[in-house]
Amino acid sequence: MNIVLLGAPGAGKGTQAAKLIDEYNLCHISTGDMLRAAVAAGTELGQKAKGYMDAGDLVPDDVIIGLVTERLAEPDTEKGFILDGFPRTSAQAVALDAELSKLERPLDAALLIDVDPEVIVGRLCSRRVCRDCGYIGTVADTVCPKCDGEMYQRDDDNEATVRNRLEVYEKSTSPLIDYYRGCELLVTIDGDRDPEVVYADVKDALGL
Ligand code: AMP
Repeated sequence: MNIVLLGAPGAGKGTQAAKLIDEYNLCHISTGDMLRAAVAAGTELGQKAKGYMDAGDLVPDDVIIGLVTERLAEPDTEKGFILDGFPRTSAQAVALDAELSKLERPLDAALLIDVDPEVIVGRLCSRRVCRDCGYIGTVADTVCPKCDGEMYQRDDDNEATVRNRLEVYEKSTSPLIDYYRGCELLVTIDGDRDPEVVYADVKDALGL
């Protein structure tokens, strides 16, 4: 199964992706995680991306499209994949369609996790992530409940940057909802509920 996850930053895409991957052994392609790894490793890509990420702006399309195209060429994606945080612009969606039709691996669904923006500001400012396994928790998790790793706050999870990320989402990414509706791939789930309840609906909607 090949899935695109849509939704504002903080809607719960990463949390739902982690659950699907655990249960169905899909390949998780998170452009945000790939970029943060590049920043941490100090690669040329990381140096290019860091300024955009710290401001909550989008990394240029050509950079991110190249990154995803290379990742999709890796053999582990053949078992099925979840794209998390990509596409985020119309140009990225068009490039993805072209690449997937070349690979003859069409999308099965575009899953929108829908959450009100004001709920998201509160969520992101209290979000903490495990440095070791990537578990997504809250400020209440002093250590990772999954692996005892160190929990940290992402540089871009502060209120000013979060508000800019939400504006960028509204302007550049939310038009993709209509794009995927037009392709008859859109599935919308109310994400403002307990993650387990959301996940049950996600599986239902995907016919899993
Ligand atoms: P995320 O972890 O998905 O919230 O992404 C963190 C940051 O990485 C975003 O605010 C952007 O600066 C950058 N980023 C991630 N994915 C993309 C993308 N598809 N296009 C452009 N920038 C991206």
